[in-house]
Amino acid sequence: MSGSFFGGIHPDDGKKMSEHSEIENLPAPEQVVIPMSLHVGTPCEPLVKPGDTVFLGQKIGEAKGAISAPIHSSVSGVVAAVEPRLHPNGKQVMSVVILNDGKDATEPNSDAQTDKAARDPKALADIIREAGIVGMGGAAFPTHFKISSGIGKADTLIINGAECEPFITADHRIMLESPDEVLSGIRYLTAAMELNKAILAIEANKKNAIALLKKKIGQEKDIEIRVLKTRYPQGAEKQLIQAVTGRLVPPGGLPADIGCAVFNVYTAWSVHRAVEQGIPAIDRIVTVSGPAIADPKNLRVRVGTPVSDLIEAAGGFNGTPLKVLMGGPMMGVALFDISVPVIKATNAILAMGDESEKSVKDPKCIRCGRCVNVCPMHLLPVYMYISEQNDDMQMLDKLNLTDCMECGSCAYVCPGRLHLVSSFRTAKVKLNKFKADRTKQS
Ligand code: SF4
Ligand code: SF4
Repeated sequence: MSGSFFGGIHPDDGKKMSEHSEIENLPAPEQVVIPMSLHVGTPCEPLVKPGDTVFLGQKIGEAKGAISAPIHSSVSGVVAAVEPRLHPNGKQVMSVVILNDGKDATEPNSDAQTDKAARDPKALADIIREAGIVGMGGAAFPTHFKISSGIGKADTLIINGAECEPFITADHRIMLESPDEVLSGIRYLTAAMELNKAILAIEANKKNAIALLKKKIGQEKDIEIRVLKTRYPQGAEKQLIQAVTGRLVPPGGLPADIGCAVFNVYTAWSVHRAVEQGIPAIDRIVTVSGPAIADPKNLRVRVGTPVSDLIEAAGGFNGTPLKVLMGGPMMGVALFDISVPVIKATNAILAMGDESEKSVKDPKCIRCGRCVNVCPMHLLPVYMYISEQNDDMQMLDKLNLTDCMECGSCAYVCPGRLHLVSSFRTAKVKLNKFKADRTKQS
């Protein structure tokens, strides 16, 4: 068993609800809505207009700038509209609406690119960029940019199979059901990073996947499986690096600053498919689960499918859900409209019941210090909260508020039931404004 990281918690994981559910293909919907912002960075520019015919996998959004990734059609059919539509982030985002013709017709010249890649780092990075692959663990950071900015700096490549958020089992299933493809993708990523070895880090609660992957790797020395103690938020990049290498990413720093690069297992699988089959990032595996879902499942879903279709495929709601989340219960985003589309970063749709309601009428801090003991970023949540309440921007800056990754560990253990994470989100907005105003005045 490998090392660990500071702080963290061990929440009820709820993974049993879906971990034995084999991945099912959800039929493509009659219409997909594909936002031009499916990644961290600059949104894409639409390449199509209403009335255009598109193929499955055709590029419909051009990446703009270095931190961006092209977007492809997840069905074949006709473009019905190019207009702002509701994004899971709650904003109206320019989107391409495509009426599915049900044919999944591909471009005549679409092709596997294995020969071209031939393990040449530059060619591999180009394929990964053109396939629109982004961090599939939820971060959605463009993979090609991580590769190009890490080459020459990173000596350690870590593949993230931790999947530490409760209820989510999508990565666990891909490792179990497609181990050869995952390992192949890891080897392509290793070659793209100009390294010789990768460490595949998996939490100890995925025993069957660990055993299977170890068997598949056999005597090969280019991929090492590192088994990690089960602890949240192990899958967060900085915590994973600390657990695997003992290295600490400095405040405000990046993994490459300490010689590391981290990619998710589903990203590796996507790289394999792009290189070997020429298929871009047009779908993803989503865990549909939670106490308020009738029949939890893992589904392979086209990007642009309405979330409501996934819930229906999982038997609908089991009672009235208190909230529906995109992502896990700790870091997921609450959805106020379930007609929003699945995006590249959607790893889970969870419907939570009354048991998830932890609010109290009169939240109070009793100065117990538990939040400080669990913060994996070595922050002082209680003082950040007080500073936000007092609008003390200088203190928030001193307390390194921007290092807070909103993991929710502090709120999870807080006996006073303070709304710590929402306070930190508000504080970040205020601090950004404060800094911008200060810059204008100077
Ligand atoms: S939400 Fe922020 S302050 Fe709270 S434990 Fe996580 S990183 Fe620390
Ligand atoms: S855990 Fe909650 S009650 Fe305890 S010190 Fe932190 S904010 Fe206060």
